[in-house]
Amino acid sequence: ILDIKDLTKTYDSGDRHLTVLQGINFSLQAGDTCSIVGPSGSGKTTLLGLCAGLDRASSGSVVLNGVKLDNLSEDERAQVRNQYVGFIFQNFQLIPTLTALENVMVPLELRGERNVQRQAMELLGRVGLAERHDHYPTQLSGGEQQRVSLARAFSNRPTILFADEPTGNLDEETGQKVEQLLFDLNRESGTTLVLVTHDLELAEKTQRIIRIKGGTVVSDTGAPVSVDKEEYQ
Ligand code: ATP
Repeated sequence: ILDIKDLTKTYDSGDRHLTVLQGINFSLQAGDTCSIVGPSGSGKTTLLGLCAGLDRASSGSVVLNGVKLDNLSEDERAQVRNQYVGFIFQNFQLIPTLTALENVMVPLELRGERNVQRQAMELLGRVGLAERHDHYPTQLSGGEQQRVSLARAFSNRPTILFADEPTGNLDEETGQKVEQLLFDLNRESGTTLVLVTHDLELAEKTQRIIRIKGGTVVSDTGAPVSVDKEEYQ
């Protein structure tokens, strides 16, 4: 579902060039769960953004659900994202002028769905926020905003969900609820999960841990071994 080959990213500002990622390789199968860990500034968020098609690599290749993202325009990448990708940002990125409900409705409307309001209410119910549906982001706590952002990511029915520090700003109880919701989505819908986290307990709950440092992979617990059942029959 995700194929990353020789990925590099250099940020250019004026005559300054900062190489943040160099030669990253890994592949995930549909339904896998994977964590990306590493020190602050090691390039985790950058890597997640490239995998999700939010930004373009400097070189190398990203194939997401069979679509090669490397030479697509911003609009074409946005289409791929709308079709397959959910993204939970570190700072939530809710639209401040829209209520919780309206924020969750946006992706549904973009997809041209019916009964958008009812579907969005159901999703808010799943994250325990139905009663807060008419609150604006500034009227919600950090944890509540994080759950709205989760409901919004779910509303895309993503094939693959990228989450940047999904539990980073939450108290333990809310963090565990969010964690539960993520793994439920993986189990129930087969959504592939790719998490960036500093929380090693959370990372250990995923099948695979990729550790990056200084923009390269320094360890990778590897692809989950799938047993070919026919071999044993
Ligand atoms: P953290 O754990 O602190 O969130 P990270 O591992 O996610 O860090 P990134 O956010 O990917 O790291 O940043 C890696 C490096 O790239 C940092 O040195 C950062 O300053 C730099 N960087 C990130 N985004 C940009 C940008 N848009 N322009 C220039 N430099 C950037």
